[in-house]
Amino acid sequence: MISNSHSSRAFTEAQKYIPGGVNSPARSFKNTGIDPLFIDSAKGSKITDIDGNTFIDYVASWGPAILGHAHDEVLSALNETMHKGISFGAPTEIETRIAELVTRMVPSVDLVRMVNSGTEATMSAVRLARGYTKRNKIIKFEGCYHGHGDSFLIQAGSGALTHGNPNSPGVTEGVAQDTLLAKYNEIESVESLFREYPEDIAGVIIEPVTGNMGVIVPQNGFLEAVQKLCAQYGALLIFDEVMTGFRLSSGGAQKRFNITPDLTCFGKIIGGGMPVGAYGGKKEIMEHLAPKGPVYQAGTLSGNPLAMAVGYTTLHLLNTHPEWYEQLEKSAEILEAGIRENISAVGIPIVFNRVGSMFTQFFTDHPAVNSFTDVSTCNIDAYMHFFRTSLHEGIYYAPSQYEAAFLGLAHSPEDIEKTISAHKVALQSVKQELYDK
Ligand SMILES: *Cc1c(COP(=O)(O)O)cnc(C)c1O
Repeated sequence: MISNSHSSRAFTEAQKYIPGGVNSPARSFKNTGIDPLFIDSAKGSKITDIDGNTFIDYVASWGPAILGHAHDEVLSALNETMHKGISFGAPTEIETRIAELVTRMVPSVDLVRMVNSGTEATMSAVRLARGYTKRNKIIKFEGCYHGHGDSFLIQAGSGALTHGNPNSPGVTEGVAQDTLLAKYNEIESVESLFREYPEDIAGVIIEPVTGNMGVIVPQNGFLEAVQKLCAQYGALLIFDEVMTGFRLSSGGAQKRFNITPDLTCFGKIIGGGMPVGAYGGKKEIMEHLAPKGPVYQAGTLSGNPLAMAVGYTTLHLLNTHPEWYEQLEKSAEILEAGIRENISAVGIPIVFNRVGSMFTQFFTDHPAVNSFTDVSTCNIDAYMHFFRTSLHEGIYYAPSQYEAAFLGLAHSPEDIEKTISAHKVALQSVKQELYDK
């Protein structure tokens, strides 16, 4: 066990004033058998807690930290900007610059609106889809997570899944009725919903590669078939690229898989660690937004200059270094090879899924993990034991089986080597504790 007495004390104190001691449930380490680590600082690939433990970080602030933590150029941009003031509630030029950059990096986006989180991006994109199509229903996929908007807390992934509330109390029946549920990688499930409600579906929202039930790869032709159904029935295809955007390529999953959605949601990397989300798409659709059009959406702090400076610098660095994505891919291949070697050497049933710099190892004896049904077969105790042992070995993964791990540009060859040896130790311990008994 790692020493975490300071974190434990901080957690006790936090619980006096904050529900559950945390501002987002996924951080609570619930069911892990240990208290959450309170973080003191992070730089590059490393994160340090208040007990002074330092870990190689694969949580990456749940995705944003693709450049590594506290990147020097990002810090200088932030420093320069903050001296001019924190927030004005009036337009600034940096908002146009980041919008222009997003439209260049993601060609399906003609116009883009900034918001403050991924949740706001998906909520607003769905409202826009409804306003544009004059229809009410949306389709989402089991195990996909699109933030905590009411419409999405139906069989939701991520923390909602980990903590056993994929269908949250407080979501009205009326709202729930307008969310139709399909199965990822099963096109018939989408088709039959369209056949049942041919005139009512405003849009289909999907994580093009899932991250929030762990990494699941879209099977050949699946995304194309969803797109075709949307076109056939006059519904909008909404890619939730909050996690995959600017990660799976400079143009996100849509560039990697060569599919053009009608609307795209962003978050995480677009803010480089600041609270930013965004949504964008075809001009004709986006111009339905106020003040130009009738669909209302607003934000006192949207496009905040500090957040935009960090987001812009992050995206600009990524856009001017296309070779970084190749580098990420290579590091990820090395890491995957090492992990796979450990899995066969130790000999416990695991499915390893990876797309680019996102990966999940599922502790399951199913031959493959392509759907929420497959994910549900995982041995959670095995994952939790792996998680705790990995911390002891200096590696920080998400405290849940149903999440992606993120490799970033700051992970060095030495980090990867250390991760691979720690992985072997952790797997051996899992085998001893859970499979040999
Ligand atoms: C993280 C995430 C969200 C929610 O973003 P927040 O900034 O946490 O509100 C939505 N969709 C996907 C795919 C995500 O990974």
